[in-house]
Amino acid sequence: MYDVCVVGSLNMDMVVNVDRIPNIGETVLANGFKKIPGGKGANQAVAARRMGSSVVMVGCVGDDENGRILIDNLDKDGIDTAYIKKDLETPTGIALIYVDKEGRNNISVYPGANLQINKEDVNKLNSIIESKVVITQFETPVETAIESFKLAKKNKRITILNPAPARQIPDELIQLSDIIIPNETETEVITGIKPIDEKSIKDAADIMLHKGAKYVIITLGEKGAAIVNKEKFVIVEAYKVNAVDTTAAGDSFIGGLAHYISKKDNLSFDILQDAVKFANKVSAIAVTREGAQSSIPYMWELKQIFGEELIWKRLEY
Ligand code: ADP
Repeated sequence: MYDVCVVGSLNMDMVVNVDRIPNIGETVLANGFKKIPGGKGANQAVAARRMGSSVVMVGCVGDDENGRILIDNLDKDGIDTAYIKKDLETPTGIALIYVDKEGRNNISVYPGANLQINKEDVNKLNSIIESKVVITQFETPVETAIESFKLAKKNKRITILNPAPARQIPDELIQLSDIIIPNETETEVITGIKPIDEKSIKDAADIMLHKGAKYVIITLGEKGAAIVNKEKFVIVEAYKVNAVDTTAAGDSFIGGLAHYISKKDNLSFDILQDAVKFANKVSAIAVTREGAQSSIPYMWELKQIFGEELIWKRLEY
């Protein structure tokens, strides 16, 4: 039995540091470049694993150097990579990421082999059946997400949908999701409502709840995250840190949250509230460091850092 199964993407991130993100038609000189393992799926798997969960990753890479580096990297973290397919014809996915001096980013993704993990593959997998929590996103095909969650729900597993990159969610997938976790941009694309205050957050979440999701958690960047179900609403504040690169903020949050709930016997609003407090810690550390998987902390770091009350202050919302 695994704690967490991630059905999702593996990308090689090409990270370029610039003073300012270029406008259309403009060239700016970059002051740094790094190749860092990423992909929303793989990042979430790494975050859950570094917190201490047993994790299996389901995905697809190309038969190339980037693909080999990505799998090696997950192996080093102790993630089960046996269900990662190799496609002989399509290159491994890549992400082109600009990071400006305030740590803000701008990303374009070439999905490549990530689109080759299809619903027929999912049906052959017992990794989903054998995992307590199943997570997926939209960097792999939406049919694959639906098929994975059907299998997960048939086996009474907890399903977490991270609808990123932003797109409409098919109603069938909403119904199969126990928890939907969009950020502010994704919330606006999905619901047409910008989540700027309590009312707009509740209104946006209600659209997904009425279509059948059990819980909606909207991440609000440096403000933290809102948890909403049909009866309750709460905002859990983020930790005040010096953010240098917000890449993988959402991914480390989701991996941390999945880890926390995989250790519980059931799912409730109160458990989710504690899970979000925990997830806020994981992503607070991640935003203080560069890159995707390179920035995701280990459990021992959480214990060390969050003992230091003087350094880590709460933010007012
Ligand atoms: P995404 O990376 O998907 O855009 P968010 O920006 O909403 O997601 O961030 C996800 C989580 O990361 C937040 O809920 C919060 O816990 C944490 N986080 C993001 N930015 C900051 C920040 N500047 N300071 C502290 N925590 C942050």
